[in-house]
Amino acid sequence: MRRTLYGPEHEALRATAREFLQRTVVPRMDEFVANRGLPRDFWLEAGKQGLLGLHVPDEWGGGGSEDYLFGVVVSEEFARVSASIASCYGIHSGVCAPYLVDLTTEAQKERWLPRFCTGELVTAIAMTEPGGGSDLAALRTTAVRDGDDWVLNGSKTFITNGYSADLVIVAARTDPSKRAKGITLFGVEAGMPGFTRGRKLDKVGQTESDTAELFFSDVRVPDALRIGEEGRGFIAMMERLVQERVGAAVSNTAHASQILDETIEYVKARKAFGTPVGSFQHNKFKVAELKTKIDVTQAFVDQCVAAHTARELTAADAAKAKWWSAEVQNDVIDECVQLHGGYGYMNEYRVARAWRDARVTKIWAGSNEIMKEIIGRDLGL
Ligand SMILES: Cc1cc2nc3c(=O)[nH]c(=O)nc-3n(C[C@H](O)[C@H](O)[C@H](O)COP(=O)(O)OP(=O)(O)OC[C@H]3O[C@@H](n4cnc5c(N)ncnc54)[C@H](O)[C@@H]3O)c2cc1C
Repeated sequence: MRRTLYGPEHEALRATAREFLQRTVVPRMDEFVANRGLPRDFWLEAGKQGLLGLHVPDEWGGGGSEDYLFGVVVSEEFARVSASIASCYGIHSGVCAPYLVDLTTEAQKERWLPRFCTGELVTAIAMTEPGGGSDLAALRTTAVRDGDDWVLNGSKTFITNGYSADLVIVAARTDPSKRAKGITLFGVEAGMPGFTRGRKLDKVGQTESDTAELFFSDVRVPDALRIGEEGRGFIAMMERLVQERVGAAVSNTAHASQILDETIEYVKARKAFGTPVGSFQHNKFKVAELKTKIDVTQAFVDQCVAAHTARELTAADAAKAKWWSAEVQNDVIDECVQLHGGYGYMNEYRVARAWRDARVTKIWAGSNEIMKEIIGRDLGL
C-alpha cells in the first residue's frame, strides 16, 4: 500500500541512512555478532552522517528538527538491516535523546549533547533491576543526598548499550517513603568510582547489541548531574515511554516487512516437486495472509506515528501499537522460517537470526501483558 506520511525531505534522509547501513554495517555484520556489540567507529560514522542527534537543537550539534518523522525513517532503515542494531541506535537516538534535550540544564547540555551527536558519547537508560522491571515504581536502587552529591547504591540489568555506554541515565529512589513520586533520574558517567559493569549478557538473539548488568556501589553523583527535578523521575519515564513504544512498533513492523519481502523472493526461487514452493496453494495463501497482516499493522502504526508527530498519541494507543506489532512480527517471521524449510533454522540465514531477534520485542519496553494492562485501565477496567 502507498504510505502517505513522508515527503521528499524524509526520503532523502532515508537514503542517507540506507547508504550508511550498506557501507558501514552490512559488510561487518559477522564482526559485530562475534563481538556482541558495536564498535565505536560505527557510532562515530553515524554521527558524521548526522544520524544521531536528529532532534537535538542545532546549537548543540544536532539536526534541530522537531519533526518526529525524520527519526522514524532512519529507524525503519536500521530495522530492515538488523533489529538488534536498530535497538542500540533507538535507545541512543530515540529513547535517551528526549531526556537529555527536555530535562537537562544548560551546563548538562554543554557537557553531553555535542558528543552525543558525534557518537563520542554513547548513551543507555537503566530502569530495570534484577528484582523486577514491570513494576518500575518498586525499583530499589537508592540515591541518598550527601552535601552536593548523591550516593548511589544498587544494580540494574538487561541494559541495552550498557556495556559500552559513556553516559547512563539511571532511575533511583530518592525518597523511600514514596513509590512513584520517590524516584529521580541521574546521569552516571563511565569511570565514576564505584560504577562497574558485568559481562555482556549472553542473549538468545539480538547478538549485535551489548546488554549488561550495571552495579553502583557508593557512586557519588554530583547534584549537578541530576536529570530533571527530584521526585519527578517516574513521571519523566512514563511521559517518554510513549515515544519508546511507538518507536518499538515502527521497528517491529519494518523488520517483519523486510523479512517477509526476502521470504517472498525465496519461495519464488526455491523449488520442490519441480515447481517454486511459493506456488503451492497452501504457501501462496500463507504469504497472502502474512502480507495482509503486515499491511494492516503498518496502517495502524503509521496512524500512531502521525498522532505522535502531532503530539497527540495516547499511552493506550502506543501500547496497542507496541504489543500488536510485536505479536505480528513474531507470527510473520515464524512462518517465514517455515517457508525457508531447513535453511530457515540455520544461523547463517537472516531469517533465523531475525526469528531470534524478534522474540524479545514481546518482553522489553513494557511486556505485552503490561501493554494490555495499560489498555485495560484506559477502558476503565
Ligand atoms: C534484550 C533486552 C534489552 C533490554 N533493554 C533494557 C534497557 O535498555 N533498559 C531497561 O531499563 N530495561 C531493559 N530491558 C528490560 C525489560 O524492559 C524488562 O525485561 C521488562 O520490562 C520485563 O521486566 P522483567 O524482566 O523484570 O519481568 P517481570 O517484571 O519479572 O515479569 C515477568 C512476567 O510477568 C508478567 N507480568 C508482570 N507484571 C504483570 C501484571 N501486572 N499482569 C500480567 N503480567 C505481568 C510479565 O509480562 C512477564 O511475562 C531489556 C530487556 C531485554 C531482554
